[in-house]
Amino acid sequence: MSVSSARESEKRSCWGRPLGSRALWGHHDHAIARINRIANSIRIQEPGPEVVPKLHDLPEECVREILLRISDHRDLDAASSAWTVMASVCNEQRIWRELVNFHFTQQQTDAALAKNNEVVDEKDFDWKKLFHQLRKMYGLREDAQFAETLSLCRHCKCLFWRSLGHPCIADQCPEYRERLKEAGGPLPPHPVPPAAFLKFFSL
Ligand SMILES: [Zn+2]
Repeated sequence: MSVSSARESEKRSCWGRPLGSRALWGHHDHAIARINRIANSIRIQEPGPEVVPKLHDLPEECVREILLRISDHRDLDAASSAWTVMASVCNEQRIWRELVNFHFTQQQTDAALAKNNEVVDEKDFDWKKLFHQLRKMYGLREDAQFAETLSLCRHCKCLFWRSLGHPCIADQCPEYRERLKEAGGPLPPHPVPPAAFLKFFSL
């Protein structure tokens, strides 16, 4: 749903006037209008002929490396329908084998294979079929749907990518570190999946 339609439906769903502070609602309304203006002014333009390489110029090995980093099977299907090279790479067993290994444990895979009564050599698996079977049996783990999720540091309240880390008060301030040690050591960061991240901005 676009921001403007959210704004309209918010207005329509109200009988009389919104509950709570009128000034606050006014601020929210202004904020939405501002976000809307910025969103509408964003133009994604195809780079000109002088910009190389473009996606279509990449060798198949690079396209494969990109697709191997996608964790959502729907994105793979969308990529397949966008470009014939991606379609042929998406037909490779390796892509689906990696996806199975990313989303499911060896135990789950073994259980699905046992259910099928299939005793086939691993190289003869139909990994795409197996992936969808596993998806129906176990569902995709919420935390495994994204190759990386944001984290919120419980000490300095910094939002950061776990692979990149962040400059933290727990590392930099000896006094704080000392107090932490007394309290039982640093706490692990809190994972922030995309849905939770969007809630930070909801009205
Ligand atoms: Zn921190």
